[in-house]
Amino acid sequence: MIRIRNVHKKFGNDQILKGIDLTIKPGEVICIIGPSGSGKTTFLRCLNFLENADKGDIEIGDTHIRFDRAFSKGVREICLKTAMVFQGYELFQHRTALQNVMEGLIIPRKIPKSEAKEIAMKMLQKVGLSEKANRYPEQLSGGQQQRVGIARAIALNPDLLLFDEPTSALDPELVGEVLDTMKNLAEEGRTMIIVTHEMQFAHDVADRIVFMAEGVVVESGKPQEFFREPKEQATKDFLSKVA
Ligand code: ATP
Repeated sequence: MIRIRNVHKKFGNDQILKGIDLTIKPGEVICIIGPSGSGKTTFLRCLNFLENADKGDIEIGDTHIRFDRAFSKGVREICLKTAMVFQGYELFQHRTALQNVMEGLIIPRKIPKSEAKEIAMKMLQKVGLSEKANRYPEQLSGGQQQRVGIARAIALNPDLLLFDEPTSALDPELVGEVLDTMKNLAEEGRTMIIVTHEMQFAHDVADRIVFMAEGVVVESGKPQEFFREPKEQATKDFLSKVA
């Protein structure tokens, strides 16, 4: 079980996150949706310490840490149990697809190079890119770069996979290949939190939808019920704009 409690985050005087709670079962896929600026990305970034939350705590398996203890030992353990896929891919431009996937295995996880290479090749194969292993990011399409980003994340075999709007930088014709890759991961039973604007995808793939607005979770529920019968007015207003 993954338990996230009472996450608060301020930027300057702006209280961006006002106490977010989320409990996730193993294998569960959560899609977070909500208006622009509601704090979705900030929330994800707090979960693997790319931002330091001011308050709250996270528990993954037997590792439990308060966010305000950002320099303690548990942070590294939580970071090793999570992996993030970014909106802008965040690949090393001077490294090949294969080297990008290997990187996170060799340095933080201290896996020998030959083993890391084997794992990385398997992951590239999983996302349909074994033939592009020796290409540099600039020689790949946006969709392919994002699939390298996904291969890099799953190579770490994390307990929790975080996706921050993974398709929003892509040309429309490239969105499908990335969503299909993510669908496969969901079917494999990986535990995922996905921040997305792709409502149809969220409807089809999520076990639970979480609707955030102005730094709080307004409501959450199973996709069919959530989209068919939203309870809160803010949710209804949002869905009427994006549907
Ligand atoms: P979108 O759907 O547009 O990506 P979001 O729900 O993911 O939006 P965030 O990116 O988390 O929203 O941003 C929430 C608020 O926090 C915004 O008002 C944003 O300007 C602000 N914010 C985010 N990062 C920073 C930062 N590093 N410094 C100051 N303000 C920030």
